[in-house]
Amino acid sequence: MDILIVPFGEVEHEVKELIKKKLNEAFGRGVSESGKERLPDYAFDSMRDQYLSIRIINRLEEETDFKRFEKVLGIIDADLFVPGFRFIFGQAGRKAAVIALERLHERFWGLPENRALYLRRAAIEAVHELGHSYGLAHCENARCVMYFSNTIDDTDRKGADFCGECVRRLGN
Ligand SMILES: [Zn+2]
Ligand SMILES: [Zn+2]
Repeated sequence: MDILIVPFGEVEHEVKELIKKKLNEAFGRGVSESGKERLPDYAFDSMRDQYLSIRIINRLEEETDFKRFEKVLGIIDADLFVPGFRFIFGQAGRKAAVIALERLHERFWGLPENRALYLRRAAIEAVHELGHSYGLAHCENARCVMYFSNTIDDTDRKGADFCGECVRRLGN
């Protein structure tokens, strides 16, 4: 069974290719890419200028064309939220997950853009959210990809790899 990535709106080729490669390495599954989805107006909150992540996850989980895939990862170059949080980097359901790229850019934080750092963060968030879909909870190990990122600094402290304990739990 394979993983499908689904870009919403414009997602750069290099980002998609890197995520596909990292997901393949992390989960040992084939990874393919769907055609581009339109930006999810049904999930947009104009007051917050953010997308409600659960609506995107529901859309991915319900799509008939995606049924044959084991897991589905949505990617959006925008900002996501869940009620009660100012923002989230991503969210995962049992089958589908979604990640937001906007806050992974250094320019979002008023800093000069850093391409390498941006790509590294995108890979980390992708593996983290699909790790949840594969049943992993948050990990205590601050270097493990399953460590909870409350801030972008938390993301930068960890890598895109699972710690030994999470690898065991994943059963790879
Ligand atoms: Zn998490
Ligand atoms: Zn871990």
